Amino acid sequence: MSRFYKLLALCLCVSGSISALHAQTPVDTIWSARYVITQDAARHVIQNGAIAIRADRIVAVGPKSEIDARYKPATRLDRPDAILAPGLVNTHTHAAMSLFRGIADDLKLQDWLEHYIFPAEAKNVTPDFVRWGTRLGCLEMLLGGTTTFTDMYYFEDVVAEVAKEAGIRGVLGETIIGFPVADNKTPADALAYTEKYLSRFRNDPLIVPAVAPHALYTNSDETLKASRALANKYNAPLVIHLSETKKENDDALAARHMTPTKILDTLGVLTGRTVAAHAVWVDEADMAILKSRGVGVAHCPSSNMKLASGVAPVVRMLALDIAVGLGPDGPAGSNNDFDMFEEMDLAAKLQKVTTMNPQALPATAALEMATIRGARALGMEKEIGSLEPGKRADLITVRLDRPNAVPLYDAVSQMVYALKAGDVRDVMVNGKPVVRDGRSLTLNEPLILQKAAEYRAKVSLSLR
Ligand SMILES: [Zn+2]
Repeated sequence: MSRFYKLLALCLCVSGSISALHAQTPVDTIWSARYVITQDAARHVIQNGAIAIRADRIVAVGPKSEIDARYKPATRLDRPDAILAPGLVNTHTHAAMSLFRGIADDLKLQDWLEHYIFPAEAKNVTPDFVRWGTRLGCLEMLLGGTTTFTDMYYFEDVVAEVAKEAGIRGVLGETIIGFPVADNKTPADALAYTEKYLSRFRNDPLIVPAVAPHALYTNSDETLKASRALANKYNAPLVIHLSETKKENDDALAARHMTPTKILDTLGVLTGRTVAAHAVWVDEADMAILKSRGVGVAHCPSSNMKLASGVAPVVRMLALDIAVGLGPDGPAGSNNDFDMFEEMDLAAKLQKVTTMNPQALPATAALEMATIRGARALGMEKEIGSLEPGKRADLITVRLDRPNAVPLYDAVSQMVYALKAGDVRDVMVNGKPVVRDGRSLTLNEPLILQKAAEYRAKVSLSLR
């Protein structure tokens, strides 16, 4: 126990005995665990800790004895052999693409997109496809400890409906792209569709609707500017792929003598809440722009490695205090799963091996990116990303009774380098339990797996 908590425990012993004379404060639930990784400003890890929750908010975090003395819960969950941590924050993915999992592997981004993904999407993507694909994605994400996901796809209103049904938090961007796609035939149609979607889901407790122009290279300047204006009108984030490949940068430099970041900035696209995915090929001037505009970056190490896109300068971005989060990107060939534990592990190792410095990105930084810094990348750090009084109750327990979890010397190191998505045991989002003992409480797992098999047959036939 740290000195701070010894002191705190002492004070609370005194106040505890006073409060024993009075009624304990009622709360809805208390969760306790062997370690509570808070990710608060001082990065406290509390041994034998607990969290009191009322409605959708965290009321108190501290040593279990103290929380038990002060609060009377209606229900409780004690996990003496687990870590309790903030829910993981995924800052970039395409959930519905789970139905294309493994459809085309081991390719470069442009080849993969143009020859496999765009044709497969043209033949298969419908609202029903998006509904079942998102259900499958949300099931995997929740079981793996992700409590917030950032999505870009078509029929994003359907994605939002599924996220609410699953009980997962989402920053969900409707895609705007410069050629006819499943939900809209023109960018003008897509902008109109997006506006309807933004007004439908604004002020939702779980959904942050967003505008998602796919990338600089798939949209006209006019569409990009209109996307920004629309996002700002609704105070919504704009999410976009940025400088993912060397080709994207080389093409921009050849055609316009500016990097993609510089072009977007010149167009005014970065003036407002923005989440840029990848940012692999950014230079010092680009990073200065990202920093000054407060752009959040979604680092996607699995995807960047699998598509051989390159290595994002994450160490430099962190030194500049840019809000860099983590994302698994797409399951269809650029990853192929939604495992945020793997992203933490790979984010750390990728920077170590490319800088030849084992301290380049330590476990503490990787966990930050998956929690509080990821929340900052989404502009949501006041609401989620850490376990602190007043914040939304988004939390997970991760079991410590498996061979890969013992012995434990350092809880943060264990989270990043040893524990896996499959070790997640319980998940709460917005005060509501959604996973208990490794089972979804909100989604019909057998039916979702059956639908995935049905779609596999359908998609295979369509590509013959
Ligand atoms: Zn992506």
